Amino acid sequence: MINLIDYLWAYAEKHGIRCIWLDGSPDEEPYSRITKYNTKEILVNINWKHANLLPFKLGHIIGHLEHNDKHLNEELLKFDRDTIEKNADLYAAGLISGYALKNGLNFMTYRELYCNFGIPLYLLNC
Ligand SMILES: [Zn+2]
Repeated sequence: MINLIDYLWAYAEKHGIRCIWLDGSPDEEPYSRITKYNTKEILVNINWKHANLLPFKLGHIIGHLEHNDKHLNEELLKFDRDTIEKNADLYAAGLISGYALKNGLNFMTYRELYCNFGIPLYLLNC
């Protein structure tokens, strides 16, 4: 998982997204922000209680930043918000699948790949 996190971290930085480790409470999940200088940042809590979901969450946030949209944007209609969330999920699944392919990690099925990396299985039907 560490190598995957490093991979996603490097991917983000290559796309102009700054990643910063935080020493937060276990409930504080990773999140993004745009600084006053228009820099995209992801703040990653090193103590987050769902560490096994961190790669997918990182990929999801990168997806939002790359699409220039917001996570769970309450200003949007539910349908639009759900579409944006699904697109961020697909972005994360694509990044992680790419990592597995580039590193020769072999899985018999996508289901196995998704389960291994904490990718939601509903994406198999998209
Ligand atoms: Zn989201």
